[in-house]
Amino acid sequence: MDWRTRLLDATPQSRRDYRSLATPVFRGSTVVFDSQSKVSDDWEQDKSGYSYGLYGTPTSLELASRIAKLEQAEHTFIVPGGQAAIALVYFAFCKAGSHALVPHSAYGPNKEMAVGLLRGLNIDVEPYDPLIGSGIADLIRENTSLIWCESPGSVTMEVQDVPAIVTEAHRRGVKVALDNTYSAGVFFDAFAHGIDVSMQALTKYIGGHSDLLLGSVSVNDEESYSAMGDVYRQLGLAVSPDDCSLALRGLQTLPVRLDQLERSTLAVAQWLQAQEAVESVYHPALPSCPGHEFWKRDFSGSTSVFSFLFSENISQESVVTFIESLSLFHIGLSWGGINSLAVVYPDVERPGKDYKGRLVRLNIGLETTEDLINDLQRAFSRI
Ligand SMILES: *Cc1c(COP(=O)(O)O)cnc(C)c1O
Repeated sequence: MDWRTRLLDATPQSRRDYRSLATPVFRGSTVVFDSQSKVSDDWEQDKSGYSYGLYGTPTSLELASRIAKLEQAEHTFIVPGGQAAIALVYFAFCKAGSHALVPHSAYGPNKEMAVGLLRGLNIDVEPYDPLIGSGIADLIRENTSLIWCESPGSVTMEVQDVPAIVTEAHRRGVKVALDNTYSAGVFFDAFAHGIDVSMQALTKYIGGHSDLLLGSVSVNDEESYSAMGDVYRQLGLAVSPDDCSLALRGLQTLPVRLDQLERSTLAVAQWLQAQEAVESVYHPALPSCPGHEFWKRDFSGSTSVFSFLFSENISQESVVTFIESLSLFHIGLSWGGINSLAVVYPDVERPGKDYKGRLVRLNIGLETTEDLINDLQRAFSRI
């Protein structure tokens, strides 16, 4: 054959019995079949064999099964990011005419999808007070098909009474999905608390180094699994095997990172509590955090992200000066990586509460705690 044709020969030439401890990165769209009769395009590759790279490769399915084990779920879907995971949950459980409930404290882009894309599809997503507990019963309608929980909530950190919400939802046959990113799928056992769907932005703690974007959606019942699989397939939520490989590596160091982050973050939060310019610290493990009692009852640990509120007498400009005076803390969104981050949320509002540009969110990284506290101290002295 011509050398040009020979270059395209896919037959392996090297030995294939290499046994590494690392999961190989399998790249591929096309999967080849032994015969025409074996051709399939089934998304459920775990059961029916590989059919197409879009539905997973050995690398992404390895990550999926490890996340499933971590969260003690039956099945996990790996998707391109946390926001894609949120979309997958909505589309699996809501259709035109559906009603869904989402806490005021939910991740901002979740609420944006609610009033954007979903409203356009005649899916009515209603915000609710994250601390409503069993009072959720009054908001459930005939057409309610999904209740979101996010605990603690984004930025304002309210810890929810998830079991109370689950009880009322299940009484009416409504599925409950949890954004479990804060707990890394570890510190809050979603399925033991009755949750139907647990999703995570793997971008945060599983990746752990701010260098990838991935999400996961985990379920325990076959009905949710198949509803979700259909949507997963139709939306084409493919992921890169290289990112999955990084997430698999992140999983190996998750315990040591979480351990260090928990200790350091708590020390910084406690130090902040003692500062004159600070009115409140919203860290789930501290009594000043709304819903702290639920954290104590339901969680086995805390992680690296929390917020604090400057006192009334500190102006909005001073808050910005504070942020910009930090040097170890970078100004940035997202969290769960190795670097400490600080950002002010000038517009965050919750019903009945206006933080007036005085709410700052911190992500604590792996820097030495004393250095972080010294950095904060210097910034306080500037205001
Ligand atoms: C970051 C985040 C997401 C979205 O994850 P991406 O991977 O950035 O799309 C969803 N939920 C929570 C709570 C998050 O913090």
